Amino acid sequence: MADVDPDLMSKIVNLSKRRGIVFQSAEIYGGFRSTYDYGPVGVLLLRNVKDAWWRSMVQLRHDVVGLDASILSPPAVWEASGHLENFTDPLVDCRECKERFREDQLDDPTRCPNCGNNDTFTEARAFNLMFKTQAGPVEGSGHEVFLRPETAQGMFINFKNVLETSRKRPPFGIAQIGKSFRNEITPGNFVFRTREFEQMELEFFVPPDEATEWYEYWCKERFQWYIDLGISPDQLRMRDHDGEELSHYSAQTSDVEFLFPWGWGELEGVANRGDYDLTQHAEHSGERLEYFDQAANEHYVPHVIEPAAGATRSMMAFLLSAYDEDIINDETRTVLRLHHRLAPYKVAVLPLSKKDTLAPVARDVFDLVTPHFMADFDETQAIGRRYRRQDEIGTPYCVTVDFDTLDDKAVTVRDRDTTAQDRVAIDRLLEYLGERLT
Ligand code: ATP
Repeated sequence: MADVDPDLMSKIVNLSKRRGIVFQSAEIYGGFRSTYDYGPVGVLLLRNVKDAWWRSMVQLRHDVVGLDASILSPPAVWEASGHLENFTDPLVDCRECKERFREDQLDDPTRCPNCGNNDTFTEARAFNLMFKTQAGPVEGSGHEVFLRPETAQGMFINFKNVLETSRKRPPFGIAQIGKSFRNEITPGNFVFRTREFEQMELEFFVPPDEATEWYEYWCKERFQWYIDLGISPDQLRMRDHDGEELSHYSAQTSDVEFLFPWGWGELEGVANRGDYDLTQHAEHSGERLEYFDQAANEHYVPHVIEPAAGATRSMMAFLLSAYDEDIINDETRTVLRLHHRLAPYKVAVLPLSKKDTLAPVARDVFDLVTPHFMADFDETQAIGRRYRRQDEIGTPYCVTVDFDTLDDKAVTVRDRDTTAQDRVAIDRLLEYLGERLT
């Protein structure tokens, strides 16, 4: 098993703040607990995580289409899905210190981890995790709406619309990326568990007798996705839910887990949800949510395999697994060995000096690169410091424009991981980068 650096978490939190990856939300007002803002570098990283998911789940497949459904939805949706009744965590209060806990997350359910007292917990009560608000200016019943706690229901309630407009037939899937909201009792561990977060979910509709086969297929595919994007297999495991842990609707569920600094934690759940969702929405809405198989001349309710991943949570896993320190020229450097697809900037263009003669050429090189690759331009500080700054945010290639460039029309390209340098003609630069970055 991989060794975990005990300071890794604080190093990631510091790096995130220092380099504009993740900021505490409302920091100038003292911070708003458990909410985070993604800075100039973090927004690129998070977007790249989502793009990598979309690429593999939608772009490269012939059997998946996309959707972007609304965040606000009426109670009827959550009544049908079972969330109004079942989307709860067992909440206990300590009578001594007044802290609240999720009973199922306590190591010892009789002892308060905050004040250390025994037998001071109240009876557990079911606490619904959905955020409720109102639509329009009038408060009260009939105006209640919910912020979605998962993106999945958007796919189920649009099943008929998508089936009719996309001309897909089972097995086919609907994919969505977007914000979800849960009033978590114990948020924490940086962006691992927050009340507002992003999910990447696929609902894959299959003929009932193919459900187990597709469930196994998606477990393998999803596990491999994290490996293909650079997480080492010994930091990942697949964990089957046992009978007790299974959700009320699920026949089979496995979690892709990552070895976080505090232990194994879920990145994604893959569930075989049977026909639960479509049947529930059909009953509550009165619509027929079925597929008509012309060849067999029969209607059936497709079964659903759902790989449900967290975008913000997996971004954190990618950061943790990419973080490295090595010694270059007797100096420790911090380097994010991010897969190039996830790296916020693919290229940094660095004029060796701020001299007027180099600046316009460097700007030309930057303009050459930016239509193809997200690039940074930095002309501050000594070149060594600028390399370190790019290493710290995982930029795979630094392109340096120096005084020789004026004569030989070539630049020096430095590789983040090896720090090896190549001299490359400017008119071959795009080809050189393209070979390495796609
Ligand atoms: P957990 O057991 O950690 O609460 P869950 O099993 O309730 O998660 P799912 O409902 O399966 O989570 O959601 C799918 C994915 O969404 C999770 O694997 C996780 O990556 C992400 N996710 C869920 N809740 C949160 C949260 N509060 N903050 C950040 N990401 C979350």
